Amino acid sequence: MRRLVILGAGESGVGTAILGKLKGFEVFVSDKGEIKEKYKNVLIHNEIEWEELQHSEEKILNADVVMKSPGIPDRVAIVEKLQAKRIDVISEIEFASQFTDAMLIGITGSNGKTTTTMLTHHLLKNDGLKVRMAGNIGDSFAKQVAEDNTEHFVLELSSFQLDGIRSFKPHIAVITNITPDHLDRYDYKFENYIKSKFRIVLNHKSTDYLIYDADDEVITSYINSHSIPSTLIPFSIKQKLDYGAYLDDKHIIIKIDNSQITMPTKNLALEGKHNIKNAMAASTVAQLLNIRKHTIRESLENFQGAEHRLEHVLRINKVQYINDSKATNVNATYYALESMESPTVWIVGGEDKGNDYTQLFPFVNEKVKAIICLGVDNKKLFKNFASMVDIIIETQFMSEAVKIAYKVAEAGDNVLLSPACASFDLFENYEDRGRQFKDAVRKL
Ligand code: ADP
Repeated sequence: MRRLVILGAGESGVGTAILGKLKGFEVFVSDKGEIKEKYKNVLIHNEIEWEELQHSEEKILNADVVMKSPGIPDRVAIVEKLQAKRIDVISEIEFASQFTDAMLIGITGSNGKTTTTMLTHHLLKNDGLKVRMAGNIGDSFAKQVAEDNTEHFVLELSSFQLDGIRSFKPHIAVITNITPDHLDRYDYKFENYIKSKFRIVLNHKSTDYLIYDADDEVITSYINSHSIPSTLIPFSIKQKLDYGAYLDDKHIIIKIDNSQITMPTKNLALEGKHNIKNAMAASTVAQLLNIRKHTIRESLENFQGAEHRLEHVLRINKVQYINDSKATNVNATYYALESMESPTVWIVGGEDKGNDYTQLFPFVNEKVKAIICLGVDNKKLFKNFASMVDIIIETQFMSEAVKIAYKVAEAGDNVLLSPACASFDLFENYEDRGRQFKDAVRKL
């Protein structure tokens, strides 16, 4: 019996344990931290051996294969010991993909993964395809592979998941964009992070597809300087293309081979230029899979969007409250501010990841009337923005931030929570931050 050791008992770890057991592996799950009650119960129920608050080397270093959860860096001692013994350490995506014949559609990028994944899933599902979504979203890929063999999987892939692949091959790959993020896990070298994203085409042949943002210079320069075997399908909102997706007089045009589809952007349910790009990427996947044009158009019009991503919460006294708590980096906030069409009270701040705010300056000067800094340390925000707005205030409480916004905003304004920072200084995670914002707005 082959021994499968799993490091990290979260969603992907427990999913892998279930699938491993089903496929006849001897499974052992080890977590250095405390395992959540619900996952413990699943492990017990499935009679899978596990431990928490430690890594017992004698039970780990005898593995044939190890699945490491994406949250664990390569630099921790136990992983280094495994590497020294030349035991293969892979990701959940790699492990699970060996056990499904479904067509895999992989979506990566610094921003827009979740939105594009959900939208792609929505397009395919509405045309009657058997499709599931997984990856960083909902139930783990491994668990879903164990449950049911669907015909298509749309996978949201982080760079950490891609770091642990060997033979994983999504027939259709999407890279939404690449901007610096998570550099602490990449020796603070942007090029390492870029390489990691491009692992999505590691096993591609010319019969596989790479859909990518041709306006993103990081992506295009990588493509120009490396030989990528995939069939390349660019999308752009800046230039017309002979092949791929582009904008022509407020219409999205997608031209692939002999097929063309045209859609007016004004009918898109999601707002903002970034969402035109996400719509282009998802519709290109749909087009490759011969989804009916009617379904594509209709699905783009009725797509609800994901929670915490430019989510319209409520209108109170003609002021629109928008929750973009998922904007944990400057690039995401860039698109949020860009899409604001009215004067905006901006709630920003949190745990700064080495942010460079300069690209936001034009929008702040043009659209932002007041800034509410919501972080433990707001000095950098004051330094960057104090000269640009009349009102800049700080607080450590969401309820207070929302109350101040309510006082400052006038009819026709927006109140936008788009922090450009991680949430961990004051909140459990970005979902908690977004929910607290919505609760506070509802209590106004
Ligand atoms: P991810 O899963 O990659 O974090 P999300 O779809 O959850 O991406 O969006 C994260 C944040 O980025 C949100 O604030 C959203 O409004 C913004 N965003 C969405 N799509 C894009 C894009 N194509 N480019 C830049 N920002 C985007």
